[in-house]
Amino acid sequence: MSADEISPEHEWPLPPAWMWECDRCTDLYRTMRRVLDEVAEARLTGERGIDWDPFDSSVTRQMVLGEHMAAEHVTHLPDWSSSCDTCTYHQERIARAKEPGPRADTAVRQGDEHRARHVYAPPSSVGFL
Ligand SMILES: [Zn+2]
Ligand SMILES: [Zn+2]
Repeated sequence: MSADEISPEHEWPLPPAWMWECDRCTDLYRTMRRVLDEVAEARLTGERGIDWDPFDSSVTRQMVLGEHMAAEHVTHLPDWSSSCDTCTYHQERIARAKEPGPRADTAVRQGDEHRARHVYAPPSSVGFL
């Protein structure tokens, strides 16, 4: 597929209203989109063979937003998606960590951060983190 073809799988979902009501979400979301746009633009127009995102800031920005949403807006996050392999993976991981404790907490938190991706990331990249 060529870069200028936009399929729904690659489109950014429209963030829900509750995200715009939170200053931190709005701020983190705008920064993330700006960083991603800049990296995409540099990759398209810049010299080939150069890593235009050497510090993976586009990934970091997405993780920071996901962490904030998991910490502050867990009640707004969508349910597990039955068509998403990463959701299935997290659900199994949480089920395996039966004993309460740090391992179970981490499994739940990372699952929440993944569910947050369903809110803000294009469907084609939701499963990456
Ligand atoms: Zn927020
Ligand atoms: Zn998922």
